[in-house]
Amino acid sequence: MTFEEFPFNEALKEGLQAMNFEKPTPVQEQTIPVILAKRDVISCAQTGTGKTAAFLLPLLNNLMTDNHDKKKVNAIIMSPTRELAQQIDQQMEGFSYFLPISSVAVYGGNDSQAWDVQRNGLTRGADVVIATPGRMLSHINLQNIDFSGVKYLILDEADRMLDMGFFDDIMRIVKLLPADRQTIMFSATMPHKIRELAKTILNNPVEIKIAIARPPDSIMQAAYICTESQKLLILKHLFSVNVPNKVIIFAGKKQRVRELALILKRKGLPAEAMHSDLEQRDRDHVMHEFRNGRINILVATDIVARGIDIDDITLIINYEAPRDVEDYVHRIGRTARAEAKGMAITLVSEADQPRFKNIEDFLEKTIYKIPLPPEVGLMPAYNPKAASENSPRGKFKGRTQNHASKQRGKQGGKHRPPRQKPNN
Ligand code: AMP
Repeated sequence: MTFEEFPFNEALKEGLQAMNFEKPTPVQEQTIPVILAKRDVISCAQTGTGKTAAFLLPLLNNLMTDNHDKKKVNAIIMSPTRELAQQIDQQMEGFSYFLPISSVAVYGGNDSQAWDVQRNGLTRGADVVIATPGRMLSHINLQNIDFSGVKYLILDEADRMLDMGFFDDIMRIVKLLPADRQTIMFSATMPHKIRELAKTILNNPVEIKIAIARPPDSIMQAAYICTESQKLLILKHLFSVNVPNKVIIFAGKKQRVRELALILKRKGLPAEAMHSDLEQRDRDHVMHEFRNGRINILVATDIVARGIDIDDITLIINYEAPRDVEDYVHRIGRTARAEAKGMAITLVSEADQPRFKNIEDFLEKTIYKIPLPPEVGLMPAYNPKAASENSPRGKFKGRTQNHASKQRGKQGGKHRPPRQKPNN
């Protein structure tokens, strides 16, 4: 189908054209009609599936077709991280370019000027507020915000918000909103706590689940079986001749991320660290430099694993096998975007072996093990079962949520319009 088949407002269709959106992705095909029909929705979809447009487009259309008070906040979109909030905001700007709809992004870590813009947006009634829960509450605690006009509440990556400990914050915000509203929840996984949240804040929701997808074949996956101390030597080897264009090295802990970035920088490599302890200004700067290629190696925690939309990443390195199968899929999904090819290499120490085996089991394939280069030394045996029995934690517990199929396209960057100001 094409977007023409949705009964969208003409100005919204123009926004879609400017963004080069022609065919809806599966999650969009299924979710848009339900949101247009004003039903509550719980949709199981990951980043990269087009989930942002799946809620923004019908939201904007509903705002255009229904009466809404221009002086009040009409819709709240909650996002777990600043990065995701920024990305939602960018798509919002594109789609709403030809519409008389204002939006404001409310997330923390920036300067006092940003605080004022956010406060004005909230108190003067920007139509759509895109917010992280913590920052939203900071504003709520300091001034009276009129939420009586809120007709739409969207929770994006709800599972991640709960994982990050935002349950109470979300509930505090929800309690301030009118009960008579449409609530839409997106979550990559559907664990019990998400179902509980859904029961509490959604009203007879339609459940949408996009069918299984594993990482696309365009991502070449490989691993080095090694010891912990061989990992740095492998990195050195990988970057000894040249550094491939745009590499992300994922590590589980901030401390490890900092150390690795430092070691690589000391070797004269264009590397930077990215993790949640950085100030917003620094995070923006690092991402900007990575986007434009001045930084070629991003050493990051999972903060970058979901929701970062950069097309030309050629290599992903997992410094350890991620704890969760789903994190693996998200991480390696940062490469081979937009029809490009990419490679994902995981460094698997003995402690990582059971987790890595779990990933192979989920993918139903054996990932190619690259022989260790001679200068790195001897390769240990790959024997995940024995490693698992030796491990005090026992067998790795992995979620088996599947990754939804991806249909990508390019956002019309050139057409991206300037931000609209909140209502005055
Ligand atoms: P998301 O899953 O919302 O983060 O979207 C991933 C990327 O796909 C973003 O760059 C979107 O702009 C792009 N995208 C989403 N839906 C479409 C579509 N129907 N056509 C073209 N590009 C799309």
